[in-house]
Amino acid sequence: MHNPLANAGKRKTICVFCGSSMGHDEAYAVAARRMGALIAEAGFTLVFGGGSLGLMGEVARAARDGGAPIIGILPEFLRHLEPPLKTAEELIITPDLYLRKDRMISLGDAFVILAGGLGTLDEFFEVLTSAQLGVHKKPIVVVNTAGFYEPLKTALDHVVVQGFARRESANLFEIAPTPDDAMRIIRPALAGAQVSS
Ligand code: AMP
Repeated sequence: MHNPLANAGKRKTICVFCGSSMGHDEAYAVAARRMGALIAEAGFTLVFGGGSLGLMGEVARAARDGGAPIIGILPEFLRHLEPPLKTAEELIITPDLYLRKDRMISLGDAFVILAGGLGTLDEFFEVLTSAQLGVHKKPIVVVNTAGFYEPLKTALDHVVVQGFARRESANLFEIAPTPDDAMRIIRPALAGAQVSS
């Protein structure tokens, strides 16, 4: 039987959360493609939402074109709304969105969040709150392309200042201005880490 993870080998994986849209500023797509290329260059496997649309598709095509194994994780009901990359090397179909997120988080050795919409924010908060509760200690890096995540920083500061989260919890992720900066954080952080499964 086809094993969807066979090609991933023992490479470490970077799970990228990002928009299924392109956004209005070309800088978002440029950053997405750069992130994919860097993942390939550094010898990581990409884990992503499986779709070919928006920034998700841009990251995945760039990673694949650079020679990285890519693992797409797509819920059954989104197959038509977010069609998979035709050449995705590995596609894992989950019964629902919750299991998709769960699978992405368990397969990722590190998380990169690029610009995105409500789904991306949901995924970011899921991975951050699970770190807050000690479920994992994996690196989380938000790429602040063109200042996209400035309002998120403000919102998190507000939550801390108002006494609803500890500063340490809001500091469980790093913010990098560019994909290159994100990779400079992730590479050393993953150097001694175990491979997730
Ligand atoms: P968006 O940032 O809204 O473009 O969504 C990015 C990705 O997150 C898309 O593949 C969405 O299908 C996915 N998504 C949206 N809502 C959820 C959710 N509640 N759980 C998991 N993934 C989601």
